[in-house]
Amino acid sequence: MKKLLRINMTTLKATVEDTPDYLRRLGGRGLTSSLISKEVPPACDPLGAENKLVFAPGILAGTIVPNTGRLSVGAKSPLTKGIKEANAGGTAAQKIARLGFQAVVVEGKAKELTLLKIDKEGVTFISASSLSGIGNYELVERIKGEYGEKICLISIGPAGEKTLTTACISVTSPDFHIRVAGRGGLGAVMGSKNLKAIVVDDGGQSLVQVSDAPGLKEASTALSKGIAGNGFVGALRQFGTPVIVMVTNTACALPTKNYSQGQFEKAEAICGEHMIDLMKTRPDSKAVHRCMDGCIVSCSNVYTDEKGEVIVAGLEYETLALAGSNCMIGDLDTIARINRLCNDIGVDTMDIGGAIAVAMEAGVLPWGDGKGALRLIEEIRTGSERGTMIGNGCKSTGDKLGVRRTPTVKGQCLSGYDPRILKGTGVTFATSPMGADHTAGIVLPGEADPSYIPVVPTGQGPKSQFMQTHMATLDSLGVCMMAGIPVIETPELHGHLINCVAAVTGETLDEHYLENIGATVLKTERAFNDAAGFTKEDDRLPAFFSEEGMSPAGFVFDVPVEEVDCVNRFE
Ligand code: SF4
Repeated sequence: MKKLLRINMTTLKATVEDTPDYLRRLGGRGLTSSLISKEVPPACDPLGAENKLVFAPGILAGTIVPNTGRLSVGAKSPLTKGIKEANAGGTAAQKIARLGFQAVVVEGKAKELTLLKIDKEGVTFISASSLSGIGNYELVERIKGEYGEKICLISIGPAGEKTLTTACISVTSPDFHIRVAGRGGLGAVMGSKNLKAIVVDDGGQSLVQVSDAPGLKEASTALSKGIAGNGFVGALRQFGTPVIVMVTNTACALPTKNYSQGQFEKAEAICGEHMIDLMKTRPDSKAVHRCMDGCIVSCSNVYTDEKGEVIVAGLEYETLALAGSNCMIGDLDTIARINRLCNDIGVDTMDIGGAIAVAMEAGVLPWGDGKGALRLIEEIRTGSERGTMIGNGCKSTGDKLGVRRTPTVKGQCLSGYDPRILKGTGVTFATSPMGADHTAGIVLPGEADPSYIPVVPTGQGPKSQFMQTHMATLDSLGVCMMAGIPVIETPELHGHLINCVAAVTGETLDEHYLENIGATVLKTERAFNDAAGFTKEDDRLPAFFSEEGMSPAGFVFDVPVEEVDCVNRFE
């Protein structure tokens, strides 16, 4: 029988219950969104007692299937005010799955800051008052020292404790680097429950039991071969996600100067190719790194300084775009330090990059002022008025400073793709129940569909729908998008992935399984947001994307509103 671990922070009691029928076939985002829809009132205060925080491994977590250890975190978002799932790599999902839990549900609010330890014996509630205000890097070292190196740590930094709406949730990798469920302010929900951290110790449990082990081995081997042979994966293995910088810059889609330009004159100084060259001169840097056991892509990196001290692992595309080009900061070391500071304080690098750029547009800092940006972000920790403004994100900063050009949808900053060039991605940013989000369904041109033209205004809705649906599926299975995108785009690989799920669960699944699961998730999320008061007007990009031709290409976002309004409407 599948189990849920329910933790009440008010009473400091944990119970293990049989998973209700409606959740039994679900995992990851599918499970978090279904549970939140059923148990959380859509109109509730996201930081109030009625909201719940759900941690769910995907359906394939803890098995031999590669790249399936993403941890989904779900709640009503204090940033978007809608339903939210953010996911991260690291080892937590595999450990939770191997402890036998389909999900961990956190409810209520503790009287004092608390640390939870979850292991084979159950849940221990430990006072964390002495950890108040501590950043994630120091916290990881302290916890590792106390509990050993076989555990995983899920934690918030000072921003989560302050319930700032860009607060994120950190999850440790096998070698105790910090991975982040970054979007939507879910760290604030954790902070609102007075929950500083969760230590997960699976005691070295073996793989989860599956229904058909030989069948799983066969399907998983075929899937791995297909992923490894993909050209996009080959580029990721060589340069990591920073390889995307020159791709978007060449396409005039790299957010620059608060989304007023699509090309950055210093793009070559912050791109993956340059990063690899620089890393060759840096002791102990790693151009390839895996954030979870079982990853066969290794798109991440360990970025060090001249002396070999780790600055951050990893320095990824979205941070380079939002905290780099979008702020006109053209220096890798500075962006890496911004990334580290955000990880330590526990805030989303994308929304913070967006907020800094908006502050630069308002004249708070000069464009490209990396040192000023670092000082401003440090103020989030100290709690100054400016720090609180930045810590509440791009939209809040624009509102406070009177900047009209805030690149946000449903209150959340766009990720690193200009929607005036990548119009299918623009439709996703507009219509995703998650708000503008890099994991919601980016639509890029590529080998899989050479006829696809991203700048034409029509035909973008169906492309966005396809990607949004399949991303919701990957998030439900626990598959990392770097390995999953080649699967989405290659019909032969769909069958291998479906066979993996069938071998794990013992279910008989048809060829429509992947699109059906994703469509059901989106429908559930849309219904929650509708009940929370969202309307079609919330599915719009900011007006400046339609009014201002971006430099230098001159394009505007001009996908017809009727086409936008057909997306994620499944009636
Ligand atoms: S491909 Fe990258 S993000 Fe995905 S599991 Fe591997 S290292 Fe993590």
